[in-house]
Amino acid sequence: MPFQVESMDSSWRQRVDRGRITAELQTILGKGALLHHEVDLLVYEADALVTEKSRPDWVALPATTAEVAEVVKLCDREGIPFVPRGAGTGLSGGCMAEAGGVLLSTARMDALLDVDAVNRVAVVQPGLVNLWLSRATTPQGLYYAPDPASQQACTLGGNVATNAGGPHCLKYGVTTNHVLGVVLVTPDGQVMQIGGRTLDSPGYDLLGLVVGSEGTFGVITEIVVRLLPAPETVRTMLAVFDHLDDASRTVSAIIAAGILPAALEMLDRLTIQAVEPYANVGLPLDADAALLIELDGPLAGIDSAAARIRGIAAAHDAREVRDAKDEAERALLWKARKSAFGAYGRLASGTHVMDGVVPRTKILEALRRIAAIADKHGLRVANVFHAGDGNLHPNILFDAENPDEHRRALAASHEILEMCIEVGGAISGEHGVGLEKRDFMPRLFAEADLELMNRVRMVFNPRGLCNPGKVFPNGRGCGEISHHFAAEGAWI
Ligand SMILES: Cc1cc2nc3c(=O)[nH]c(=O)nc-3n(C[C@H](O)[C@H](O)[C@H](O)COP(=O)(O)OP(=O)(O)OC[C@H]3O[C@@H](n4cnc5c(N)ncnc54)[C@H](O)[C@@H]3O)c2cc1C
Repeated sequence: MPFQVESMDSSWRQRVDRGRITAELQTILGKGALLHHEVDLLVYEADALVTEKSRPDWVALPATTAEVAEVVKLCDREGIPFVPRGAGTGLSGGCMAEAGGVLLSTARMDALLDVDAVNRVAVVQPGLVNLWLSRATTPQGLYYAPDPASQQACTLGGNVATNAGGPHCLKYGVTTNHVLGVVLVTPDGQVMQIGGRTLDSPGYDLLGLVVGSEGTFGVITEIVVRLLPAPETVRTMLAVFDHLDDASRTVSAIIAAGILPAALEMLDRLTIQAVEPYANVGLPLDADAALLIELDGPLAGIDSAAARIRGIAAAHDAREVRDAKDEAERALLWKARKSAFGAYGRLASGTHVMDGVVPRTKILEALRRIAAIADKHGLRVANVFHAGDGNLHPNILFDAENPDEHRRALAASHEILEMCIEVGGAISGEHGVGLEKRDFMPRLFAEADLELMNRVRMVFNPRGLCNPGKVFPNGRGCGEISHHFAAEGAWI
C-alpha cells in the first residue's frame, strides 16, 4: 500500500461551541484582532494558488508571542485545527485552512525588533515584509540576501516556513543559509527558543528542521537573520537570444567557466511578450529568450567577469548584450522580471504557476519537454526562472472560464513534475509542497523516507492540529489512515 496519511476534515465543528470559542478568542486578542464574519473570511480562503479554496472559521491577528501561544493553547484544548499565515503569497496552498479552524495571521507582527550592525544580525517578527528589512538596513550598509520575486509582499515568517529562494540565492544560498534562530510556538502552546544570534548551536539542528517545515511544526513568532554588507558594486546585464537553446547553453557555459553571478534569470518569448508592454525595458518582442545576469562584489575584477560573460553570450549567438546604464534601468529590469507572474494576466485569464527543479545541465532538455507537453494538451506555457540553479517556473496559461482547459492545464502540470523527477530533479525548487504537490511526494521519496519525515512531524505536532493536510500524501476519500498514527488519535 502506498504511503498515505489521512487529512483532518471539518467534523470538529460539530462538537465545538462556536459562540464560546469566538468569545474566548476575542478575550485573548482584544478589540479588532479577530475576524469571524463570512465576508471578512472570504479574503483568507486561498493563497496565491487561487484554484484551491477553503474558508477558515476565524482569522486571529495576534500582536505578540504570548497571544499566539494563548490562541494555540485554546485550539489544542478544543481540538480545533489552526494554520499559520504570513502574506498569503504562497503558491502551493500551504496556508489554506482546508479543514477550517483558526487562521493565525502574522499581519500585525511586523516589527523590526533589533538591528545589530556590528554582528550583522537582525531580529524580526515573522510578519515583517521581506523587502522592508533590506530597506530598513540600507543606511547601515547592510541587506538581507534571500529575495523571492514576491519580496514586496511576502513575509519573513513565510520565507522561513517555505525555505524561500529567489534570484540572488544562486550566489548567496536560500533562506536556511540566512536564519540563525527562531522563537517557535509549538502546537501545544509552548514557547521554544531554537538557535540564537550565533552561527551554530550545540545539539541537534532543530533550526534546520523548522526552516522549510511549511507551518506544520508550530508558529514562528520571532526570527534572527544574518545581514550581509551591501556589495561594493553591482553590474546588471541583459543578453537577448534568437533561440532558447542558445540561452540555455549560455547559462551552463557561464557557470562552467567558473563565474558565479549573483543572479542568472531566464525569460522566454511568451514571458517577454507579457512583461515588455508593461515594463518598457526594451526587450525585443521577437526574441526567443533573454537572460538577466547580475554580478556583484568588489569593483576590482567585475569588468573582466562582465567581459567574459559577454564573450560567452556572443559565442552562443546572443543577438545583443547590454549593461543597465544606471540604477534606474537596473531597477526596471528587475521589476520586469519580478512582475512576470502578474503580467501573464495580459496573455490569459488563468495561469498555473509551477515550480520544479532540474540539474542545470538538464535545463535545455526540460524546456523542450515542457514545450512538447504543453503542445500535446493544446496549451501555451511561459517560462521565467532562476536558470542559474535549475529552478524552473513553467507557467501554464489557460482560460479560467473553461473547465476543460483548466483540467488540461492541471494534467500538463502533473506531466511536467513527472518529467522533473525523470531528469533527476524534484517537484519543488522553492514554493514548497503544501497541498498542491502532496500526492507527488511518493514519486520522489521511498515509503521509509516519508515515514521518517512523518515521525519527525509527529514529534512537533503529535495531534496534527497545526496546518493539517499539508506536505504528506492525502488519504482522504480513500479511507486509508496513516499506518501508525491514526490509532493514536492523531490527525495528519
Ligand atoms: C509573484 C510571486 C513570486 C514569487 N516568487 C518566489 C520566489 O522567487 N521564491 C520563492 O521561494 N517563492 C516565491 N513565491 C512564493 C511565496 O512568495 C513564498 O513561498 C513566500 O515565502 C511565502 O511567504 P508568505 O508570507 O506569503 O507566506 P504564506 O503564503 O502566508 O505561507 C506560506 C507557508 O508558510 C507558513 N507560514 C507562514 N508564516 C508562518 C509562521 N509565522 N510560522 C510558521 N509557518 C508560517 C504557512 O502555513 C504556509 O505553509 C512567489 C509568489 C508570488 C505570488
